[in-house]
Amino acid sequence: MSPESFLRPTSFAEALEMRAARPGAIAAAGCTDVLVELNFGRLHAGELIDLTRVPELGALGVEGGTVRVGAGVTYDSLIRTAGRELPALVAAARTVGSPLIRNRGTIGGNLGSASPAGDCHPPLIACGAEVELASATSSRTVPIEDFFCGPKRSVLGPDELVAAAWVPRADGPQAFAKVGTRNAMVIAVCSLAVALHPSSRRVRTGIGSAAPVPLAARAAEAHIAGHLEETRAWETKAPLQPAAVEHFAELVSAAASPIDDVRGRAEYRRHALRVLARRMLTWCWEEYRREPRWAA
Ligand SMILES: Cc1cc2nc3c(=O)[nH]c(=O)nc-3n(C[C@H](O)[C@H](O)[C@H](O)COP(=O)(O)OP(=O)(O)OC[C@H]3O[C@@H](n4cnc5c(N)ncnc54)[C@H](O)[C@@H]3O)c2cc1C
Repeated sequence: MSPESFLRPTSFAEALEMRAARPGAIAAAGCTDVLVELNFGRLHAGELIDLTRVPELGALGVEGGTVRVGAGVTYDSLIRTAGRELPALVAAARTVGSPLIRNRGTIGGNLGSASPAGDCHPPLIACGAEVELASATSSRTVPIEDFFCGPKRSVLGPDELVAAAWVPRADGPQAFAKVGTRNAMVIAVCSLAVALHPSSRRVRTGIGSAAPVPLAARAAEAHIAGHLEETRAWETKAPLQPAAVEHFAELVSAAASPIDDVRGRAEYRRHALRVLARRMLTWCWEEYRREPRWAA
């Protein structure tokens, strides 16, 4: 690849102009996915648009009740700055790759790759995030669940870039966990995020690596929301009834449509999701009971 084909915009506007003028060029942020694809010959890049010198993409800021995470924000930066506002997303960031990958890899790259196993996706779903997409002529915001349309496919247009993820600040306890063969450098066999939203009296979920796209377990969310209303548990902070937790876990598992592949069998993924759901709902609820700062 010659220097002329390695394009280095220094502003987001310039990057968008390049994106519009060169439909075949590949956007490159940390390159932790792009280089793997190039090295294995699965991607053929005439030109790369290097986004690492676009300052707007690296910005992370709080606007009202929402955190705007620029697409170029790395996992390392998220971990260092956003633990209090975005606990589930930060918990997911901590599990990505290794320190080297967390220094380079970005949230925009995770969205751009749109892998069903991308670790950012379940917490973004459980938090009710939105993705800001921009082209040289317009911008739009897409709810995270509408962003993915198949394995490694998203609604990102050929003339668009991901500008940012807009993530509501935590208004209650959140958790993320993934199952893998070891604790580091592992792509999820399956993963789950759970977020309690006492202000809207909702429990939200995000499932990863157990369906063609990351998704929420809506029936499980409705079941536990009903249980919490019936028992007035948001107000009393009473312990959760085991049968209600067990049914929540069953419904989370049933929401997935996993396949057998090199990382695990479908049956194992369903089992692991049941275990994660039971544990994570319990962890979040116990934190809600314990912490005076969380209230409905
Ligand atoms: C050893 C190793 C371990 C890994 N472990 C994990 C893991 O544990 N969990 C996990 O989820 N992932 C993992 N990954 C995958 C990868 O690190 C992540 O997906 C990371 O978030 C990609 O970010 P990046 O900035 O490097 O993206 P890049 O490689 O630069 O880009 C990835 C894709 O996104 C597009 N893109 C990048 N930025 C934008 C933008 N602003 N707008 C539009 N499109 C854009 C690119 O064109 C490309 O298609 C691993 C990768 C490696 C090599």
